[in-house]
Amino acid sequence: MDGPSGTGKSTVARRLATGLAAQYLDTGAMYRIATLHVLRSGVDPSDPAAVAAATKALELTIGTDPASDRVLLAGEDVTDEIRGGAVTQAVSAVSAVPEVRTILVDKQREFIARTERIVVEGRDIGTVVMPDADVKVYLTASAAARAQRRNTQNIAEGRGDDYRAVLADVERRDHLDSTRAVSPLRPADDSVIVDTSELGIDDVIGRLLLVVRD
Ligand code: C5P
Repeated sequence: MDGPSGTGKSTVARRLATGLAAQYLDTGAMYRIATLHVLRSGVDPSDPAAVAAATKALELTIGTDPASDRVLLAGEDVTDEIRGGAVTQAVSAVSAVPEVRTILVDKQREFIARTERIVVEGRDIGTVVMPDADVKVYLTASAAARAQRRNTQNIAEGRGDDYRAVLADVERRDHLDSTRAVSPLRPADDSVIVDTSELGIDDVIGRLLLVVRD
């Protein structure tokens, strides 16, 4: 399952995995952990060579249980910190570094190989990580709808109310993710595309269950 942020992708992917008795992998969380590691190492995220070197020493732990979202960096629980402003600001630059993608895609394929059935969410799953996936889904929505959702989530989680800043960040990340040289965000040719701008989470999940069971 691929798509930009704010489409409801994480919620949908997690609940779909639960409904299908499948495992679940959030690859965005992996790029976020790598970014936190880069920042903590004192490396400038806009220096690709230094980012690549720092990522070689990355020790990340992420589970594939859809009921748990805990992630660790070198044994420390960083679940909340990877969603903060500093990581969100730097993650597109870090994830555009080819060596970072090679390291994380290898790890993703290892996790996937250990499972029988898994819902994997990200930006390049259908195009790069699992080109032979049984079902490919691309969730999309207008930038305004996505920023609205992200802002509502920020308010609920105590991170403040600033729709304009959130919209600017959504548009900035869309641009960086879809124009980067390696694995740009785009739907795989054989993906089912669902626009979630006007759909609730239950509607999206209902549609996708039909697609998977078809
Ligand atoms: O999904 P989430 O917003 O947590 O992803 C954070 C960032 O990680 C994205 O903006 C993108 O730059 C990067 N990412 C990626 N490839 C993936 C998943 C995420 O480049 N498969």
